[in-house]
Amino acid sequence: MSTKTLQEQLLRPVVLGSHAYAVADSTGLIKLDAMENPYSLPASLRQSWLDALHNAELNRYPTPRPVELMRALAAHGGIPASMELMLGNGSDELIQILISAVAGAGRPIMGVDPSFVMYRILAEQQGLAYHSIPLDANFQLDLPAFLAAMERCNPAIVFLDWPNNPSGQMHPVASLEAICAAAPGLVVVDEAYHAFSELSFAEHLGRWPNLLLLRTLSKEGLAGLRLGFLAGPANWVQELDKLRLPYNINILTQKSITFALQHAEVLALQAAEIRSQRELVYERLLALGVQVWASRANFLLFALPGRAAAIHDGLKQAGILLKAFTGHPRLSEYLRVSIGTPAENRAFLAALEELL
Ligand SMILES: *Cc1c(COP(=O)(O)O)cnc(C)c1O
Repeated sequence: MSTKTLQEQLLRPVVLGSHAYAVADSTGLIKLDAMENPYSLPASLRQSWLDALHNAELNRYPTPRPVELMRALAAHGGIPASMELMLGNGSDELIQILISAVAGAGRPIMGVDPSFVMYRILAEQQGLAYHSIPLDANFQLDLPAFLAAMERCNPAIVFLDWPNNPSGQMHPVASLEAICAAAPGLVVVDEAYHAFSELSFAEHLGRWPNLLLLRTLSKEGLAGLRLGFLAGPANWVQELDKLRLPYNINILTQKSITFALQHAEVLALQAAEIRSQRELVYERLLALGVQVWASRANFLLFALPGRAAAIHDGLKQAGILLKAFTGHPRLSEYLRVSIGTPAENRAFLAALEELL
């Protein structure tokens, strides 16, 4: 007789052996841990936003493929008209779809280290190996090493977050070009921080048949709505779209995003303010003698050798939540701060100065 629980009998070992994605409790804290835009919709727009939602038919399923919204997103994102779009419940869902689409191919997923954690988590959930190629001491891509690893591993998909999360670095365009040209599978350039980098690889879509682009509205100010999109050649997008659940983008998100894009200048102003605050916080950290990396995203990574955990806790005591990388083989002595409002950034810098 088996002494295994029903869970142990039924669930895949990878499920039993993993942990649910942990999100730190931020109750009562200044939240600088998750790359959210600190600004919400301005008060002046709230009533017209609610008016836009007023007639939402909650009893009906949402439009399964909202083409008008897709067109607006493509225009907003500067995606070439020849490319197709697919919407996801956050770009996380699109990463999951991409990985599950190739799960039978017997080929690994590849990225750099450090990088956005969901590539590894979602690959391993599908039972795929995830190979990450270390970035150098300054978080720069080692192109020859990366190309050699691609040749050795034959990855089904290469994910490159551009800029890189958590370092904020951008690999040179020439490196991305070389990777696209040499990749034996898909190359997904993840531009989650496009609003802050002001650079895009979108113009290269179509130049290589294996290049796809990911974007999200999360970091730009709409994280609560959960909307990301994948852009690429029709022959890829149409295949991947078969794995998308029919009504993955709910009606309130569809209407709210449509509304937000009609007021895109508000998001653009917020992004500009965050970029300028990023430069101020960067300068201030340098002035405090902290080793910090110039960033093209809405966050800064900095090193506090021997003190990262203690300073993370001290900041929390002072009411400020940052991201620590406890247990990460390479980043345990680093912290990442998301750029907040000027007042939040001042509070962070004052608390840090106190602790240093
Ligand atoms: C935050 C982040 C995402 C996830 O975005 P969602 O659209 O909110 O799921 C994707 N890629 C990178 C690199 C990120 O940092």
